[in-house]
Amino acid sequence: MNKDDMAFVGERRCKGRFAPSPSGRMHLGNIYTALASWLSAKKAGGEWLLRIEDLDPQRSKEEYAHLIEDDLQWLGLEWDEGGLDDRGELGPYTQSRRGDIYRDCLLRLNEMGLVYPCGCRRRDIMASSAPHQSDGRVIYSGHCRPAPGEGGPFAADVFDGRAARLVVGDNVVEFTDANYGAQRVRLAEECGDFVLRRADGAWAYQLAVVTDDALMGVTEVVRGEDLLLSTAQQIYIYRLMGWEVPAYRHLPLIGNREGQRLSKRDRGLDMEQLRQRFTAEQLIGRIAYMAGWQPTADAVSAKELLLTFSWGDVSMRRMIIGEGFAE
Ligand code: GLU
Repeated sequence: MNKDDMAFVGERRCKGRFAPSPSGRMHLGNIYTALASWLSAKKAGGEWLLRIEDLDPQRSKEEYAHLIEDDLQWLGLEWDEGGLDDRGELGPYTQSRRGDIYRDCLLRLNEMGLVYPCGCRRRDIMASSAPHQSDGRVIYSGHCRPAPGEGGPFAADVFDGRAARLVVGDNVVEFTDANYGAQRVRLAEECGDFVLRRADGAWAYQLAVVTDDALMGVTEVVRGEDLLLSTAQQIYIYRLMGWEVPAYRHLPLIGNREGQRLSKRDRGLDMEQLRQRFTAEQLIGRIAYMAGWQPTADAVSAKELLLTFSWGDVSMRRMIIGEGFAE
């Protein structure tokens, strides 16, 4: 394939991804994101990767990962790489089996003198910092940050039983989201020094997602708007590691008529129930109509929708109303 082909982003072949956490059955929002990222990658002639983000040992269950795969197949969304059977050369594609890879990344950041051990408990942090925005995000005060000149690199055992935090300094991250436009985030104001590995040894999402997307060659990330703020933290890690930053497109969340984000309380919206109520084509047709990808809610397969799909120039910034789904 030649370099002018749409499938190339600069020097790299377009690769999209879907990175669900197997902590429950997929719901309408997950399916919308999966379909959108699949359409986007396939329309560009690229590949689509499935990564299982099972970092949270308490909430992740393998049975949910199997159900995710079954639901994607039912929808006609085949992945070219990844999944539970590790299709491809860049695996493993399940985060719980990638600890050594995350450790290398953490070591490199520690060698740069940018990581420090933090013994603050969540309770203390919640009490000492002003909660940020409606999502409950908390800005870390820097209580455990070493004084200038006393920072890392730290020996590995200093982190035993303590979280590893990344110094953000006065860095400002600028990026352009394909949907939400130009973003400018001063990290100290949005999150402060953030956790790369928790005190209990669990890897933090921010470190894992960047390491994985970078090493798996992902060139575009299409996902929900709730992760727009995290993107700045992630780009900060990319730049420190010298990795190429992917293109980002965040999608508005799906809400009900009252303007509230859909939750488990909105009945009939998880895949178990959606599969009883609709065929795959009916469901995709409704999602395509809701997202503005087709003028009617007529049944359509993912492959058929791909023929007419385009992101267009219009950006969607408001919550999408998930009418016609809830019971
Ligand atoms: N695993 C995350 C979730 O299910 C998504 C991560 C991402 O798309 O970057 O919410």
